[in-house]
Amino acid sequence: MYRPGTDPQNVQMSDVLCDFCHASWTEDLPLVEGHQGSVICGRCVSVAFAEVVLGGGGAEELAGLKCRMCLEERDEPQWESPLDGTVRICRRCIEMAAGAMEKDPDTSWKRPGG
Ligand SMILES: [Zn+2]
Ligand SMILES: [Zn+2]
Repeated sequence: MYRPGTDPQNVQMSDVLCDFCHASWTEDLPLVEGHQGSVICGRCVSVAFAEVVLGGGGAEELAGLKCRMCLEERDEPQWESPLDGTVRICRRCIEMAAGAMEKDPDTSWKRPGG
């Protein structure tokens, strides 16, 4: 997401915020883009990956809301934003984001447990 008030014609790195923790984009913090300008940062992907993919968390009560990244309502575990319980990422998108960050030569991001 963009910081409120961002000029769409002149977007700075610091205007781009993680939808899940609202951290702004920096050189040290990789981001992965989803649909409609949604983004998730490397820190959130690490937490989500550990909880949902490794830990088997993100129980059924989290299902039934659209994933912020793919905009699909998928019947699978989701990870919930610590700031906004309606902002979710599905397990598939967590795995895709992890794969994208690992392939990004500009970051040394590694998935937890791997
Ligand atoms: Zn984040
Ligand atoms: Zn998704």
